[in-house]
Amino acid sequence: MNAIPYGRQWIDKDDIAAVAEVLDSELITQGPKAEEFERKLCELTGAKYCVVLANGTAALHLAVAALEIKKGLEGITSSNTFVATPNSLIYNGLKPVFADIDPRTFCITPQTVKAKLTDKTKIVMPVHFAGQSADVKGIRETVGKNIFIVEDAAHAIGSFDAQGNPVGSCRYSDAAILSFHPVKTITSGEGGAVTTNNPEIYEKLIQLRIGGITKKPELLSKNPGPWYYEMQRLGFNYRMTDFQAALGLSQLKKLEKFVARRNEIILAYNTGLAGIKHLTLPYTPKELKSAFHLYVTRIDFGALGINRADFINALIAKYKIGTQVHYIPVHTQPYYRENFGCKDGDLPDTENYYQCALSLPLYPKMTDAEVRHVIEHVKEFTDK
Ligand SMILES: *Cc1c(COP(=O)(O)O)cnc(C)c1O
Repeated sequence: MNAIPYGRQWIDKDDIAAVAEVLDSELITQGPKAEEFERKLCELTGAKYCVVLANGTAALHLAVAALEIKKGLEGITSSNTFVATPNSLIYNGLKPVFADIDPRTFCITPQTVKAKLTDKTKIVMPVHFAGQSADVKGIRETVGKNIFIVEDAAHAIGSFDAQGNPVGSCRYSDAAILSFHPVKTITSGEGGAVTTNNPEIYEKLIQLRIGGITKKPELLSKNPGPWYYEMQRLGFNYRMTDFQAALGLSQLKKLEKFVARRNEIILAYNTGLAGIKHLTLPYTPKELKSAFHLYVTRIDFGALGINRADFINALIAKYKIGTQVHYIPVHTQPYYRENFGCKDGDLPDTENYYQCALSLPLYPKMTDAEVRHVIEHVKEFTDK
């Protein structure tokens, strides 16, 4: 049996053909495929607008930038996330403030957000951890209309919220971001997107993606000729290439199949690993349909008398089973300690969760035999 990583892409011949077709064409940077990918992502999520970008981090950066929040104000987010989420606040001159997670869903909640609200709070960024939607409706009701909400939906393309809206619909938020990194549910190599229902945010994103410039006649202050464009804000180059968009489009056709397979594996794990004393299965609220980006167990390493590093190393060495920890709480990172005065003990539920979290392999191409192999040996290590 080959080594089983914690997550990986599934690329088929038709994906490769889609990329090759673009590479054979005249235009290989952002063009018609990127536009088509944007339209399809709008159809999937139900959002009015979509802007595809170079990666999910760029999507976070620009989603916050497009809100043009005054520097020095505060943004509330989760510490149980990839560093890119809170970093996007810092890129925009905002102060990251961390709300604790719910100990069962591992997402920030209306209550934990409320506990961190100040008169400087201007944005909240919930993360749909592991694919399960955070309570964005509840957070909106808690923060009111004057605070922006940008959803980090990097884990959650293909998921639905408790109200039945596709994640990315922005029903209760100002914008949502997606990532198409290879470990995510569908991939474009590197890639990301912002969805929104707000035409002004959309127009700013379009400009921020390419240098902050526009050529649209209706937006120009004057128009001396066909060469003319104006830089109206400070932008970047965060375009997605058309061959990446072609891969994303091709993968998007398989989203349902991928999500169905992820759900099958989750069911097999939940059944196969049930009833183990020192292993807690992930909690799945009944009202949520999830695309399940991660399968996060909690293991009481203390009670088992083994430390997590030894456990992880043994699973790989003996059985070629790769696991991962999602995530090291961002507020404990040296950069955050040094620059924002974050410290251990700030977020008890996030820190307790981190002590026992372990993500088991989960990707649609996993075979049933591989799933059984993981169950058998995780059981062997934990059922004591
Ligand atoms: C992957 C990820 C990102 C960043 O996406 P990239 O495409 O890798 O830049 C942001 N937030 C979360 C929660 C992620 O998992």
